[in-house]
Amino acid sequence: MRYTTQFLLSAMAAAQFPAPDLPEVAFLGRSNVGKSSLLNALVGDKAAKVSQTPGRTRAINFFLLSEEPKGKKRFIFADLPGYGYAKISKSISAEWPKFIEPYLADRPTLALCICLVDLNVPAQKGDMMLLDWLRSVGRDFAVVATKADRLSGNARVRNLAALKKSLGVNELLAVSSKTGYGLKELWARIAEAGEDAPTE
Ligand code: GDP
Repeated sequence: MRYTTQFLLSAMAAAQFPAPDLPEVAFLGRSNVGKSSLLNALVGDKAAKVSQTPGRTRAINFFLLSEEPKGKKRFIFADLPGYGYAKISKSISAEWPKFIEPYLADRPTLALCICLVDLNVPAQKGDMMLLDWLRSVGRDFAVVATKADRLSGNARVRNLAALKKSLGVNELLAVSSKTGYGLKELWARIAEAGEDAPTE
Protein backbone atom coordinates (compact mmCIF):
# COMPACT_ATOMS: atom_id res chain seq x y z
CA MET A 1 0.00 0.00 0.00
CA ARG A 2 1.24 3.49 -0.83
CA TYR A 3 0.29 6.56 1.14
CA THR A 4 0.34 10.28 0.56
CA THR A 5 1.26 12.36 3.59
CA GLN A 6 -0.17 15.69 4.51
CA PHE A 7 0.91 17.88 7.41
CA LEU A 8 -2.10 18.55 9.64
CA LEU A 9 -0.97 20.75 12.51
CA SER A 10 1.50 21.36 15.32
CA ALA A 11 -0.10 21.11 18.75
CA MET A 12 1.23 22.71 21.92
CA ALA A 13 -1.85 21.91 24.01
CA ALA A 14 -4.48 19.19 24.19
CA ALA A 15 -7.14 21.54 22.84
CA GLN A 16 -5.23 21.70 19.56
CA PHE A 17 -5.06 17.97 18.85
CA PRO A 18 -6.84 16.88 15.67
CA ALA A 19 -10.22 15.15 15.99
CA PRO A 20 -9.64 11.60 17.20
CA ASP A 21 -11.18 9.76 14.28
CA LEU A 22 -8.33 7.75 12.77
CA PRO A 23 -5.88 5.24 14.25
CA GLU A 24 -2.83 7.13 15.41
CA VAL A 25 0.81 6.07 15.58
CA ALA A 26 3.18 8.09 17.76
CA PHE A 27 6.95 8.26 17.19
CA LEU A 28 9.13 8.74 20.26
CA GLY A 29 12.81 8.73 20.97
CA ARG A 30 15.65 10.69 22.42
CA SER A 31 17.15 13.47 20.33
CA ASN A 32 19.50 12.22 17.62
CA VAL A 33 18.13 8.66 17.68
CA GLY A 34 17.20 8.97 14.01
CA LYS A 35 13.49 9.82 14.31
CA SER A 36 13.45 12.44 11.55
CA SER A 37 15.38 10.17 9.23
CA LEU A 38 12.98 7.33 9.91
CA LEU A 39 9.93 9.50 9.27
CA ASN A 40 11.64 10.63 6.10
CA ALA A 41 12.13 7.05 5.00
CA LEU A 42 8.56 6.09 5.88
CA VAL A 43 6.55 9.00 4.54
CA GLY A 44 8.83 11.42 2.72
CA ASP A 45 10.89 14.39 3.75
CA LYS A 46 7.98 16.75 4.19
CA ALA A 47 7.24 15.22 7.59
CA ALA A 48 10.77 15.53 8.93
CA LYS A 49 11.14 19.06 7.61
CA VAL A 50 7.96 20.26 9.27
CA SER A 51 8.95 18.73 12.59
CA GLN A 52 12.36 20.39 12.52
CA THR A 53 10.97 23.86 11.79
CA PRO A 54 11.90 26.25 14.62
CA GLY A 55 8.94 26.55 16.97
CA ARG A 56 7.68 23.08 16.11
CA THR A 57 10.39 21.01 17.74
CA ARG A 58 8.59 21.12 21.08
CA ALA A 59 5.18 20.45 19.60
CA ILE A 60 3.41 17.25 18.63
CA ASN A 61 3.33 17.39 14.86
CA PHE A 62 0.44 15.50 13.28
CA PHE A 63 0.41 14.07 9.76
CA LEU A 64 -2.43 12.49 7.85
CA LEU A 65 -1.69 9.42 5.75
CA SER A 66 -4.12 8.64 2.95
CA GLU A 67 -4.11 5.59 0.72
CA GLU A 68 -3.16 6.05 -2.90
CA PRO A 69 -4.77 6.33 -5.35
CA LYS A 70 -8.23 6.82 -3.88
CA GLY A 71 -7.31 9.07 -0.99
CA LYS A 72 -8.99 7.05 1.77
CA LYS A 73 -7.84 8.48 5.11
CA ARG A 74 -5.95 5.75 6.91
CA PHE A 75 -3.71 6.89 9.80
CA ILE A 76 -2.45 9.83 11.71
CA PHE A 77 1.26 9.87 12.54
CA ALA A 78 2.20 11.92 15.58
CA ASP A 79 5.83 13.04 15.79
CA LEU A 80 6.65 13.78 19.41
CA PRO A 81 9.48 16.03 20.61
CA GLY A 82 12.75 14.20 21.17
CA TYR A 83 13.70 13.84 24.81
CA GLY A 84 17.09 14.61 26.29
CA TYR A 85 19.93 12.34 27.24
CA ALA A 86 20.28 12.51 30.97
CA LYS A 87 17.72 14.89 32.25
CA ILE A 88 14.96 12.41 32.74
CA SER A 89 13.71 12.84 36.24
CA LYS A 90 10.52 12.28 38.16
CA SER A 91 8.14 12.33 35.23
CA ILE A 92 9.32 10.92 31.90
CA SER A 93 11.33 13.99 31.18
CA ALA A 94 11.56 17.28 32.97
CA GLU A 95 12.18 18.89 29.61
CA TRP A 96 9.10 17.54 27.99
CA PRO A 97 6.20 19.93 27.58
CA LYS A 98 3.36 19.28 30.01
CA PHE A 99 0.84 18.12 27.45
CA ILE A 100 2.85 15.10 26.28
CA GLU A 101 2.14 12.74 29.16
CA PRO A 102 -1.64 13.28 29.05
CA TYR A 103 -1.48 12.77 25.29
CA LEU A 104 0.24 9.41 25.70
CA ALA A 105 -1.95 8.35 28.60
CA ASP A 106 -5.36 9.49 27.38
CA ARG A 107 -5.48 9.90 23.61
CA PRO A 108 -8.37 7.56 22.68
CA THR A 109 -7.23 6.72 19.15
CA LEU A 110 -3.53 6.23 19.89
CA ALA A 111 -3.04 2.71 18.55
CA LEU A 112 0.70 2.31 18.88
CA CYS A 113 3.77 4.09 20.19
CA ILE A 114 6.89 3.47 18.14
CA CYS A 115 9.73 3.88 20.65
CA LEU A 116 13.05 4.39 18.96
CA VAL A 117 16.39 3.34 20.42
CA ASP A 118 19.80 3.37 18.75
CA LEU A 119 21.03 -0.14 17.96
CA ASN A 120 24.61 1.08 18.32
CA VAL A 121 24.39 2.25 21.91
CA PRO A 122 23.38 0.46 25.11
CA ALA A 123 19.91 1.10 26.54
CA GLN A 124 19.65 4.55 28.05
CA LYS A 125 17.96 5.31 31.33
CA GLY A 126 15.51 7.63 29.60
CA ASP A 127 14.41 4.89 27.23
CA MET A 128 13.84 2.47 30.09
CA MET A 129 11.86 5.07 31.99
CA LEU A 130 9.71 5.82 28.99
CA LEU A 131 8.88 2.15 28.45
CA ASP A 132 8.15 1.61 32.14
CA TRP A 133 5.87 4.60 32.08
CA LEU A 134 4.03 3.39 28.95
CA ARG A 135 3.57 0.02 30.62
CA SER A 136 2.19 1.73 33.71
CA VAL A 137 -0.49 3.51 31.68
CA GLY A 138 -1.22 0.38 29.62
CA ARG A 139 -0.19 1.84 26.29
CA ASP A 140 0.76 -0.53 23.44
CA PHE A 141 4.26 0.10 22.10
CA ALA A 142 6.80 -1.36 19.71
CA VAL A 143 10.50 -0.79 20.26
CA VAL A 144 12.42 -0.13 17.06
CA ALA A 145 16.22 0.02 16.92
CA THR A 146 17.63 2.53 14.44
CA LYS A 147 20.85 2.79 12.40
CA ALA A 148 21.15 -0.98 11.88
CA ASP A 149 23.32 -0.39 8.80
CA ARG A 150 26.20 0.65 11.05
CA LEU A 151 26.65 -2.90 12.32
CA SER A 152 27.63 -6.22 10.78
CA GLY A 153 25.26 -9.17 11.07
CA ASN A 154 26.88 -10.60 14.22
CA ALA A 155 27.11 -7.31 16.05
CA ARG A 156 23.53 -6.58 15.08
CA VAL A 157 22.31 -9.81 16.64
CA ARG A 158 24.40 -9.23 19.75
CA ASN A 159 23.21 -5.67 20.27
CA LEU A 160 19.60 -6.63 19.63
CA ALA A 161 19.79 -9.29 22.32
CA ALA A 162 21.43 -6.92 24.80
CA LEU A 163 18.88 -4.17 24.17
CA LYS A 164 15.96 -6.58 24.50
CA LYS A 165 17.28 -7.70 27.85
CA SER A 166 17.90 -4.22 29.22
CA LEU A 167 14.60 -2.85 27.98
CA GLY A 168 12.61 -5.92 29.04
CA VAL A 169 11.01 -6.53 25.64
CA ASN A 170 10.55 -9.74 23.65
CA GLU A 171 10.48 -8.08 20.30
CA LEU A 172 12.79 -5.48 18.90
CA LEU A 173 12.74 -4.55 15.27
CA ALA A 174 15.98 -3.33 13.70
CA VAL A 175 15.71 -0.74 10.95
CA SER A 176 17.91 1.46 8.84
CA SER A 177 16.62 4.64 7.28
CA LYS A 178 19.74 4.69 5.17
CA THR A 179 19.34 1.29 3.50
CA GLY A 180 15.64 0.62 4.06
CA TYR A 181 16.43 -2.45 6.16
CA GLY A 182 13.44 -3.50 8.30
CA LEU A 183 11.06 -0.85 6.97
CA LYS A 184 8.72 -3.40 5.40
CA GLU A 185 8.37 -5.13 8.76
CA LEU A 186 7.79 -1.79 10.47
CA TRP A 187 5.01 -0.93 8.02
CA ALA A 188 3.43 -4.32 8.72
CA ARG A 189 3.46 -3.58 12.46
CA ILE A 190 1.92 -0.16 11.87
CA ALA A 191 -0.79 -1.59 9.61
CA GLU A 192 -1.61 -4.28 12.16
CA ALA A 193 -2.02 -1.68 14.90
CA GLY A 194 -4.22 0.39 12.60
CA GLU A 195 -6.52 -2.53 11.96
CA ASP A 196 -6.94 -3.36 15.62
CA ALA A 197 -7.48 0.23 16.64
CA PRO A 198 -10.76 1.47 17.99
CA THR A 199 -11.86 4.57 16.11
CA GLU A 200 -14.74 6.82 16.88
P1 GDP B 1 16.50 12.83 15.35
O1 GDP B 1 17.13 13.89 16.18
O2 GDP B 1 16.03 11.69 16.18
O3 GDP B 1 15.43 13.33 14.43
O4 GDP B 1 17.67 12.21 14.45
P2 GDP B 1 18.06 12.42 12.93
O5 GDP B 1 17.12 11.71 12.01
O6 GDP B 1 18.27 13.88 12.67
O7 GDP B 1 19.44 11.63 12.86
C1 GDP B 1 20.51 11.90 13.74
C2 GDP B 1 21.83 11.47 13.10
O8 GDP B 1 21.83 10.06 12.86
C3 GDP B 1 22.06 12.11 11.73
O9 GDP B 1 23.43 12.39 11.62
C4 GDP B 1 21.65 11.03 10.75
O10 GDP B 1 22.32 11.11 9.52
C5 GDP B 1 22.02 9.76 11.48
N1 GDP B 1 21.13 8.65 11.10
C6 GDP B 1 19.80 8.62 11.19
N2 GDP B 1 19.30 7.45 10.74
C7 GDP B 1 20.36 6.71 10.33
C8 GDP B 1 20.51 5.40 9.76
O11 GDP B 1 19.56 4.65 9.52
N3 GDP B 1 21.78 5.00 9.51
C9 GDP B 1 22.87 5.78 9.76
N4 GDP B 1 24.07 5.27 9.49
N5 GDP B 1 22.76 7.01 10.30
C10 GDP B 1 21.54 7.48 10.57
